[in-house]
Amino acid sequence: MLTREHLLQLDRQDPLAALRDQFVLPAGTIYLDGNSLGAMPRAAADRVRRTLDHDWSQALVRSWNSAGWVDLPQRVGDRIGRLIGAREGETLACDSTSVNLFKLLSLAVKLRPGRKLILSDCENFPTDLYIAEGLSALLGGGLELRSVSPGEIEAAIDERVAVVSLSHVNYRNGALYDMAAITQRAHNAGALMLWDLAHSAGALPIHLAACDVDLAVGCGYKYFNGGPGAPAFLYIAQRLQAQASTPLSGWFGHQRPFDFVPVYAPAAGISRMLAGTPAILSIVSLDAALDVWTGVSMEQVRAKSILQCESFVALVEQWMPGVFELVSPRESAKRGSQVCLRHAEAWPIMQALIARGVIGDVRAPDILRFGFTPLYLSYAEVWDAASTLREIIDADSWRQPHYQIRAKVT
Ligand SMILES: *Cc1c(COP(=O)(O)O)cnc(C)c1O
Repeated sequence: MLTREHLLQLDRQDPLAALRDQFVLPAGTIYLDGNSLGAMPRAAADRVRRTLDHDWSQALVRSWNSAGWVDLPQRVGDRIGRLIGAREGETLACDSTSVNLFKLLSLAVKLRPGRKLILSDCENFPTDLYIAEGLSALLGGGLELRSVSPGEIEAAIDERVAVVSLSHVNYRNGALYDMAAITQRAHNAGALMLWDLAHSAGALPIHLAACDVDLAVGCGYKYFNGGPGAPAFLYIAQRLQAQASTPLSGWFGHQRPFDFVPVYAPAAGISRMLAGTPAILSIVSLDAALDVWTGVSMEQVRAKSILQCESFVALVEQWMPGVFELVSPRESAKRGSQVCLRHAEAWPIMQALIARGVIGDVRAPDILRFGFTPLYLSYAEVWDAASTLREIIDADSWRQPHYQIRAKVT
């Protein structure tokens, strides 16, 4: 049986333990929502301050050159690329995940003329489905989004499909797709494969190049800790870049933006996927946040994440048998870095937890979601979080009426 002493022992032996000092976290808080908004790295705060106090206020417009602002999308993109198994020049940090989905789905459909389907699963993150719907409505010509249940995806891939668009880890239950197998399956049918890495990049090892993935997008503000609204990223395999185009053909993706010529000509390589001026305060924050990963192996992160998730599940089932339904896959190899529990009163239970300093979130109507971020979460905190949940359940303290009040953001 698990003991707190055993978890403390794991903390003492943890090769990642020292990284926590690189983050600012409020005292008395156990943060299990880094899969929604990553914690703030000290380096990110310092870098934003320096950008305000020097690069913007003093160096002014010169900073586009002197502080290297103009190349940040490519530089930060490559830093992310190294964490997701991409080659140099295949990743760009820009825009939001939603906008990047629009760009890459448009590209995919263009690269597979005559094919009328964007195939996804009906449990995909809503924006992934909405953007595919919006693109289909825009392009017309019979282009359609088809979404099936996750278990039916492989069978639904056929010669009508232009692109298979899936989230690597399911945001609601943490289920993890087999990237290599499904990418292969898409390629066998002549379709392109687009992965949304929002809940897997920075959480587990990803090998985009080795899996021969065509296209990918992901978030900068979740496991990469870039800050609220930080730029997202997009990836295009080298072999597709010569044919790549974007419907948002803005001046930052032009061959020579500062020639200010009236006719568009795409930049070489991935840079053509840029649209407009990068959000510098956000991208410098993301750039600095990535310093935390220096010398960290994603295998170590994954090993700790698995142990943390397994410990949490074991404690919940040991202390609160029958209270929650585990909706995440039980088998660690099939789960991302989150544990999701179903309970009809998920909302008030989570509010009671948050009031006690344990921050997770709720996905309507009935899922309590707990994200595990090994860079700044200790094993002892896993015990303490489960123990707080147990106190709330044992004392029924979640029944207090003020925990029923709904907020705009859940
Ligand atoms: C968080 C998340 C997004 C967010 O998209 P934004 O455009 O950044 O709001 C997209 N897709 C998935 C799978 C996500 O989990």
